[in-house]
Amino acid sequence: SKTCFLHVKSIKISFIKKDDGPSIQEVLVEMTNQRTVPNVFVNGTHVGGCDATLQAYQNGSLQKLLGSGTDVKPYDYDLIVIGGGSGGLACSKEAATLGKKVMVLDYVVPTPLGTSWGLGGTCVNVGCIPKKLMHQAALLGQALKDSRKFGWQYDEQVKHNWETMVEAIQNYIGSLNWGYRVSLREKTVTYLNAYAEFIEPHKVKATNRKGQETYHTAERFVLATGERPRYLGIPGDKEYCITSDDLFSLPYCPGKTLVVGASYVALECAGFLAGIGLDVSVMVRSILLRGFDQEMAERAGAHMETHGVKFIRKFIERLEEGMPGRLKVVARSTEGSDIFEGEYNTVLIAIGRDACTRNIGLDKIGVRINEKNGKIPVSDEEQTNVPYVYAIGDILDGKLELTPVAIQAGRLLARRLYAGSSIKCDYVNVPTTVFTPLEYGCCGLPEERAVKEYGEHNLEVYHTLFWPLEWTVPNRDNNTCYAKIICNKLANNRVIGFHVLGPNAGEITQGFAAAIKCGLTKELLNETIGIHPTSAEVSGETGASRQEFITTEWGGKLPTYKTRLLSSISVILL
Ligand code: FAD
Ligand code: NDP
Repeated sequence: SKTCFLHVKSIKISFIKKDDGPSIQEVLVEMTNQRTVPNVFVNGTHVGGCDATLQAYQNGSLQKLLGSGTDVKPYDYDLIVIGGGSGGLACSKEAATLGKKVMVLDYVVPTPLGTSWGLGGTCVNVGCIPKKLMHQAALLGQALKDSRKFGWQYDEQVKHNWETMVEAIQNYIGSLNWGYRVSLREKTVTYLNAYAEFIEPHKVKATNRKGQETYHTAERFVLATGERPRYLGIPGDKEYCITSDDLFSLPYCPGKTLVVGASYVALECAGFLAGIGLDVSVMVRSILLRGFDQEMAERAGAHMETHGVKFIRKFIERLEEGMPGRLKVVARSTEGSDIFEGEYNTVLIAIGRDACTRNIGLDKIGVRINEKNGKIPVSDEEQTNVPYVYAIGDILDGKLELTPVAIQAGRLLARRLYAGSSIKCDYVNVPTTVFTPLEYGCCGLPEERAVKEYGEHNLEVYHTLFWPLEWTVPNRDNNTCYAKIICNKLANNRVIGFHVLGPNAGEITQGFAAAIKCGLTKELLNETIGIHPTSAEVSGETGASRQEFITTEWGGKLPTYKTRLLSSISVILL
């Protein structure tokens, strides 16, 4: 069931004939203490049977034996990393720091509209960085409004200029791209701006922008090719619609925008577009933020709705050229025969992302992928089914798609491979934040999963609404910010879920994640003295259990959405 690919100059295979087999076995036992075959020798040195050979291959002694007797190194590099994003850069730099000869291949296939970018992967170019900066642009708009209440006076009407924002953000990203190139050079990592695909075991073909091909071999490979946005698969989607890959460098203001999808990317983009003053609708197929605590998700959505974002619980189709053009969207509900029609300047598709694993020659070397989603199953040491090939980051099957996770996995992998470390990446209790206008930070389990895993009767859920001090003077959204802590009664009220919806939730959640890693309990939380006046101090005040709170303070009125499903979408140019 195991495959071991070896690069050797020549192989001598001896077949044991049936009649003299026993006598050969006797000699083998005498020489090697091993009766069975395969029985592997390299240049006269006995290696052993199948398992011993695989083990020798994994610890590198086999390659040394194969290389001995000649001056030629068996491979060009110790390690080739495919993909220069969050995970790939971290892994390659760490391996080079540990004295290894490393190459990174990174290449961005342009979007259907021709958008492309530099070194650094999704996070830096079309993900976390431009997203958070545009979120900040939206927050500043709100701060400007608040500022009048704090005494600031300005006469002109405040307007937002999309082109100025994009130029400033893209300049910053350009400086990051440059910084990555410099740091690879400093660490003596060879960087090639070329598309890599395996053509045979231990060997890749690299094709650059001009179509020139080069070939490179390595003892080990790390796959870190990330994901790209998925399209709807309807006529015109690639021609007329954009994705997050186009949005952050869009040379014109997107205008009235429809966002299709209802998870991280969709809600974050819808949030900042509305925040800079655009007319934004979100087309929701089922629920908001699948996988997250649904009470928190609905509250984040409700806040967006009260701040002008429209939620269309239905559908999509397309519409007119221009910068921006005009698009007509027609969609049919999955529930019944309702038809939705609307006109927009921009349709932003944010319905998930596909792993970049199907066009990199994995079939040529036998690396298995999950055919359903294209993701790569790995061991808890990020090793694929082909022992010399590892994978990290967004392409992993069943793991989290977050930058710090990819970085941590990449660094730890390099240390295990080249520094004798045994520390593995811990994918449990990873904190995250959705940068919706009202940020939602969490760590640990959503309430739904906690109930499933522990049983409702074994949980205590503490929660509270809070009003950040900064919001009081401008009289902003009372009774909107919310914190919730889910505790396991069977384990001394250990905190197994932390959720906070409020300004700077990302900053707040990070510290609680460390505390949860250390075994935080409700009692310890109560004993922790807060920093006043902050939003984070509220965590020590989430003293009311669910029942008490609903009856005494809040009245239990949750904003609710009616859900309709998408069955078909079409987008046409008007
Ligand atoms: P990537 O960073 O995607 O890098 C892969 C690289 O490999 C790319 O440069 C790609 O072009 C290249 N490549 C692919 N195939 C080949 C090939 N055959 N040859 C050569 N090169 C190749 N995460 C957070 O933690 N916080 C956030 O706030 C956040 N916001 C996000 C916002 C958006 C809009 C998106 C889309 C994602 C966001 N993420 C966020 C997720 C984060 O960006 C990813 O988890 C992270 O970038 C994954 O890193 P990676 O190394 O796996 O892949
Ligand atoms: P997700 O896979 O998380 O969500 C896809 C969304 O699109 C869901 O709401 C889904 O609805 C909807 N959808 C899927 N197909 C259709 C369709 N045909 N029509 C309409 N809606 C559809 O993808 P994202 O791109 O939002 O995020 C990818 C990953 O990137 C995240 O998991 C996250 O790890 C990372 N990320 C992290 C961020 C952060 O840390 N702040 C920010 C952005 C991304 P349904 O629920 O019905 O399936």
